[in-house]
Amino acid sequence: MQSELQAENQALREQLQALLQEARRNEDKMRRFERLEHQLIAAESLQALLSLLLQAYAQAFAIDRVSLVLVDSEREISRLLQANAGSREHLNETLPGLQLLPSALQLQALYGPHSKPLLGRFDPATHAALLGGEAASAGLGSVALLPLARHGQLIGGLHFGSVDPQRYDPATGTQLLERLSLIVAVCLESAINQERLKLTGLTDVLTGVHNRRYFEHRCLIEIAQARRYRHPLACLFFDLDHFKSINDSHGHPVGDEVLRGVGHLVQGQLRAGDTIARYGGEEFVLLLPQTAEPFAREIAERIRASLAQQRFVAAGGTSGQSQVLSVTASIGLAMLNNDNAGIDAAVLASELISDADQALYRAKQGGRNRVELARRPS
Ligand code: GH3
Ligand code: MG
Ligand code: MG
Repeated sequence: MQSELQAENQALREQLQALLQEARRNEDKMRRFERLEHQLIAAESLQALLSLLLQAYAQAFAIDRVSLVLVDSEREISRLLQANAGSREHLNETLPGLQLLPSALQLQALYGPHSKPLLGRFDPATHAALLGGEAASAGLGSVALLPLARHGQLIGGLHFGSVDPQRYDPATGTQLLERLSLIVAVCLESAINQERLKLTGLTDVLTGVHNRRYFEHRCLIEIAQARRYRHPLACLFFDLDHFKSINDSHGHPVGDEVLRGVGHLVQGQLRAGDTIARYGGEEFVLLLPQTAEPFAREIAERIRASLAQQRFVAAGGTSGQSQVLSVTASIGLAMLNNDNAGIDAAVLASELISDADQALYRAKQGGRNRVELARRPS
């Protein structure tokens, strides 16, 4: 009897110990969770927020695999991120585990209409793509998939994978995860809005392409990348020919319309990592990363030819009727000086622009509507 009681007592004490330990673990988890929440709310940029989600969270909670999938149907997030990060490679390097989707369909199929966190065994057929592909998700045992929604719309998903098949058990409560997905969704929305505002101040109001301030900022990023990866970087500077006569003959609003058309036409010919900015008046500047000189020449020639061929229709000139106009451009092309060890990036940037500008001047001298290549003293 005595020994039975003793054994029971011992068992109870052990249970109590276990419960206390569990409570301490939960308290600790809660504290880490709250710390992370504060960091998420305080993140100073979209980039910082994403790296917190993809790296800090995994570390704080010892999660084997974290991925963040965002719906980016307008490719806006991609543009906002690239505006700061430079090339797509660099972006992948700094934000591994980030995936941008062209539509919400895949996530809608996964989460259904209720948009609640899904916990359970890892199933490669359904989950591998959400967790960064087969290689990245190999060896996972269980997953927690958190839908991110704002105003009733799925904007993405935050996905955790663990090698432990028991870690994300469908029977456990998802209160904390639901709270996390809500906070993450709000933080993402506000960070995207903020980046959008930042970018608005870097956009040329008339043409909608970037402005000179953005160009100067971007030029330093591209120079740093070109040096780091030893890639060539091309800069094109172009100026519309006899543009004053368009204003003089048809009025300033028609000139404005043509400028908008030029920005639009050239932008449509660029690749995702290229930059176009209106440098001033009727002058535009382009940065083409990873573009060697012969190819940059081809692009410049293509842009020149397409501008010359284009017919711009502008309504309501001084004559009161729609005008069909054509315009040509003179283009200067310069390559980033490869022999640039130890030279400050700002110095390289101003050399690059001034080389392209001098080449442009020669294109004007040579008769306009042509491409000239910068001459570097060797
Ligand atoms: P060139 O071939 O030598 O470049 O001749 P150009 O007439 O283009 O050169 P110039 O520098 O003499 O004149 C540039 C003109 O561009 C003058 C200005 O009226 C016009 N311009 C500059 N900014 C704007 C703008 O925002 N809107 C309009 N409509 N015209 C502009
Ligand atoms: Mg001009
Ligand atoms: Mg000019």
